Amino acid sequence: MRALKFLAIVLFGATIAWAKPTIYILATGGTIAGGGAGELGTNYTSGTVTVDKLIAAVPEINKIATIKGEQISNIGSQEMNNEVWLKLAKRANELLKSGKADGIVITHGTDTMEETAYFLDLVVKSDKPIVLVGAMRNSDSLSADGPLNLFNAVNVAMSKDSVGKGVMVVMNDEIHAAREVTKTNTTSVDTFKSPNTGKIGTVFYGKVKFYMAPTRKHTKNSAFDIAKIESLPRVDIIYNHSNDDPDFVNTAVANGAKGIINAGMGNGNPYPSVLEALSEAVKKGVIVVRDSRVGSGETTAGGEVDDSKYGFLTSDNLNAQKARVLLMVALATTNDKDKIQKYFLTH
Ligand code: ASP
Repeated sequence: MRALKFLAIVLFGATIAWAKPTIYILATGGTIAGGGAGELGTNYTSGTVTVDKLIAAVPEINKIATIKGEQISNIGSQEMNNEVWLKLAKRANELLKSGKADGIVITHGTDTMEETAYFLDLVVKSDKPIVLVGAMRNSDSLSADGPLNLFNAVNVAMSKDSVGKGVMVVMNDEIHAAREVTKTNTTSVDTFKSPNTGKIGTVFYGKVKFYMAPTRKHTKNSAFDIAKIESLPRVDIIYNHSNDDPDFVNTAVANGAKGIINAGMGNGNPYPSVLEALSEAVKKGVIVVRDSRVGSGETTAGGEVDDSKYGFLTSDNLNAQKARVLLMVALATTNDKDKIQKYFLTH
């Protein structure tokens, strides 16, 4: 009888151990890895804490998953660049494809988290969850938000309900889709919002609930594949305002920009001299995408600007930094304007 009980316990334990998912934490830096803070944690340096220390700070995650950490970079995300993007995307792709990882959590600074998230959403070929997470308060700060955010991110990355949802951002108990999410406040922990669609779910002390799913093409169904991308072309964003001048457009073209995202006023309206410079840029072969500086809503084709006359594309409702990511990825694979416009309407 005793022997039987012992066997049952061993088998039960083995089942639990077997059922534990493997989650890779790919660390890139940011405030979640920030430290060396002064009084109250207000002044600090991003990207000083290593991935091992990040994991050790949240022992609870080792109880629910087999956690493996890798340091991809250790930078403030204002320093994020194409090189790190390509390295991150290729590594995530490899880990998910090979079956080594059941899900991936990427620790990242909040400044450019939305750009990295959308880049990965467009190029990584997997259904498995990829979750970006960060913190608004560094590890030395009062009420640091990093540990609970990381715990929640691991729970989202191992949830069956997360499969097929594309790349997600988990911050402040909320789950956002990569295409939609943007940072809206410089310092508040309640900074990540999805202005056009709202969040897709919540995660409360690890309890994951989804209410919506993204419908645009992403990850497995995306037209793009990181395996085929070795470099990304230059795409500049031009921010418009009253009494503007065309110098920045001309400088972008002179310095070899292959694409320009024009963050126009209102429904993507440029100042007259900027409009003229953009039209000249198109004649030189630069892909110009009309976008808006407003931050939500669609930039409608042919609204107050005759896009077909000027040869401009429009960004649908992507904000300028997201439109830049899509145009870079698109230009890495094609120069066909019709194709690129379709990507903006489907991804
Ligand atoms: N500057 C930091 C970064 O993006 C801010 C943060 O992580 O919250 O890396």
